[in-house]
Amino acid sequence: MVLASDYLKGSQIVVIGAGAVGAALTYRLAQAGARVTAVERLYPGSGTTSKSFAWLNGFNKPPKHYHRLNVMSVRDHLDLADELDGDWVHIQGGLHWEHAARKDSLGTLRSKVKRLRDWGFRVDETTPEAAMRELEPDLWIDPEKVPEVYYCPREGTLDPVPMVHGALRAAVVRYGATYENGNVVQFLGRPGEVAGVTLEDGRQIAADLVINAAGPQSDSVAELAGVKISIDHTLGFTLVTPPAPVCIKAVIHSPEVTIRPDGGGRLMLRHEEVDGHLVDDQPLPSNSPVVQEVMERARIVVPNLKRIPAESIRTGVRPMPKDGKTIVGFEPEVSGLYTVVTHSGVTLSARLALLITEELTGGDVAELEPYRPGRFAQQ
Ligand SMILES: Cc1cc2nc3c(=O)[nH]c(=O)nc-3n(C[C@H](O)[C@H](O)[C@H](O)COP(=O)(O)OP(=O)(O)OC[C@H]3O[C@@H](n4cnc5c(N)ncnc54)[C@H](O)[C@@H]3O)c2cc1C
Repeated sequence: MVLASDYLKGSQIVVIGAGAVGAALTYRLAQAGARVTAVERLYPGSGTTSKSFAWLNGFNKPPKHYHRLNVMSVRDHLDLADELDGDWVHIQGGLHWEHAARKDSLGTLRSKVKRLRDWGFRVDETTPEAAMRELEPDLWIDPEKVPEVYYCPREGTLDPVPMVHGALRAAVVRYGATYENGNVVQFLGRPGEVAGVTLEDGRQIAADLVINAAGPQSDSVAELAGVKISIDHTLGFTLVTPPAPVCIKAVIHSPEVTIRPDGGGRLMLRHEEVDGHLVDDQPLPSNSPVVQEVMERARIVVPNLKRIPAESIRTGVRPMPKDGKTIVGFEPEVSGLYTVVTHSGVTLSARLALLITEELTGGDVAELEPYRPGRFAQQ
């Protein structure tokens, strides 16, 4: 039997997929001494990562161990950016509120806040007037409708594609990793074993370990080895405005819409309820009623968006494990194959990269135990 710790002693590791998860992992593995090749069929960050809202948070992530995994990952992103001299992490805080008339939703928000505080996570409470006066003067939070506003100073956003690029570049330049553009279509090795990958153009890359970080395609990649990964593919979209005469700093979670700054004066908008209107992963036209609805909702909360149209619309496919939680670890049925697939992968990528690297060097990774691939077989 090969001990986990043996893998990193100059071993060849192939990481399939250069999204947030694969790129951060490639960097940490190369840094730890492995000979890593990241293989990406399109370009780094081109998958779900570039369509993400990229809110860095542990806000609605029960149970406590999953919340902690996310919160720790936000900190790990700060460290990673610091280490790579990147400017892609923004801890600008988040504002959350609900309308008194939406009793159930208000009750849910209050219970989430109580749970977060019980878990030692800081959530401040303020009034609509104070939030508009002191935090976000360009917002309209109707004091007649909104009883209280919650402020989480420790949440923020990521610019995920620059993070992917920064991590990959550093893996290559500092630690000798390689990057290959290619589509993995087959595994090398006998049945029950993975010993490398074959790309669509016929190239073969031998490996001691192959890590499947192919996001929403991770199930079809796993199938090449006869492994089933229990994920759903859920559609979601974000909409980006042109540079607008508004100044929003925080991540805004209102009943109407969710908003984040997106650089250069642009705002990114989304609303979970309208995701249900999507029929495929193609970008919606800007005159589609769904896009118009999100813009109308945004204008209630940010009145200066009046007359500002949508500039771009991004539709993405979430890799959503059946129980909503990360799937990470060695595949029990096939040697040489390791899976990492997750929702909230933008938030979680920095921590998962550290923990997986620790696991492959024989460290203590109790944090990963609740998320092993074998749990679905036991159900
Ligand atoms: C609308 C929306 C909003 C979201 N909001 C948030 C949020 O606020 N916060 C958060 O943390 N998460 C959010 N997510 C989820 C998050 O974006 C994803 O969990 C994350 O991007 C997944 O990253 P990944 O690296 O696993 O996958 P991907 O980014 O999809 O990367 C996988 C890569 O693998 C490549 N690939 C696939 N098959 C092959 C193959 N056979 N050979 C070679 N390469 C292959 C793909 O081209 C792709 O680049 C959101 C997602 C969506 C869609």
